[in-house]
Amino acid sequence: WRPDDDDDHQRRGAAGPVKVRVPAKINLHLGVGPVRPDGYHELSTVYHAISIYDELTARRGDTLTLTMEGEGTGELALDESNLVIRAARALAAYARVPAHARLHLRKQIPLAGGLAGGSADAAATLVACDTLWGTELSRDELAGIAAGIGSDVPFLIYGGTALGTGRGEAVSPVLARPTSWYWVVAVADGGLSTPAVYRELDRLRADRAAPEPLGSPDSLLAALRQRDPGVLAKALGNDLQAASLSLRPALSATLAAGEAAGALAGIVSGSGPTCVFLAADGAHASRIAAELSASGVCRAAHTAYGPVAGARVV
Ligand code: ATP
Repeated sequence: WRPDDDDDHQRRGAAGPVKVRVPAKINLHLGVGPVRPDGYHELSTVYHAISIYDELTARRGDTLTLTMEGEGTGELALDESNLVIRAARALAAYARVPAHARLHLRKQIPLAGGLAGGSADAAATLVACDTLWGTELSRDELAGIAAGIGSDVPFLIYGGTALGTGRGEAVSPVLARPTSWYWVVAVADGGLSTPAVYRELDRLRADRAAPEPLGSPDSLLAALRQRDPGVLAKALGNDLQAASLSLRPALSATLAAGEAAGALAGIVSGSGPTCVFLAADGAHASRIAAELSASGVCRAAHTAYGPVAGARVV
């Protein structure tokens, strides 16, 4: 097999369309440390993949193209800046195959919502093109390529619940007996820029106006092992929350409404503005979501559960 031979590599890959489903992530713990010399913050985070999905379909083509439907259509550029295109090109360069595919994205994860939708799409693209092109890399190899695309991308290759360190790209699974956790996801109108939220946290810290950093995720990890939502509720934490609330004060009302609706806890997801609420079980989550939807404090409220698998061919 000659890696630069288009026909040969297409014979090795899948003939039909390859469809990949990929989840959104939330952070059960997001500890933001100091800024590193490379400009990234040192993180200690616990990622958790939840049942809100994007879907990426890859078909054979003579060039690389991307179309989309759903969340963000008309708003999100489909050119070389899109993380889907960047991921396809990164895999093609690594595996030394032509980056030829017709890609279609069905998006449900809101844009710039703190749910890592763009990173999820990049992870889905790596898995889909790996099958389409017959490059047959291991998950760990795909995660290595993923780390060069974005900090959250490796986690979305694996899914589940995992500890993230470094700038978030170094992931190791959290081993716990299988338990499902039930969430309500309150989607806001409009997004928040992740770099802007980090800059706001730096500003608050310089002004000594930020809460004490969370530090280690040990108590969150211990809470996960106890499998009690009441215990987990007390251990959830996000160092970026103060910065998101500072940029988007209306989120305080969203968090308060979720708690008034009976949620065990509510936190901003990642850099926001999505807020997530922990429920005792699925029925409890449905009641909270209905109340939040009616309250007008968010664009939409969805129920979800986690952990779920990462990017997978379906
Ligand atoms: P994170 O939680 O990782 O900070 P986020 O959920 O806040 O991410 P995303 O939707 O992942 O935000 O993406 C943020 C920005 O990335 C978008 O505003 C857009 O400019 C860019 N982007 C590039 N490709 C994509 C994509 N396929 N989907 C979403 N955003 C993309």
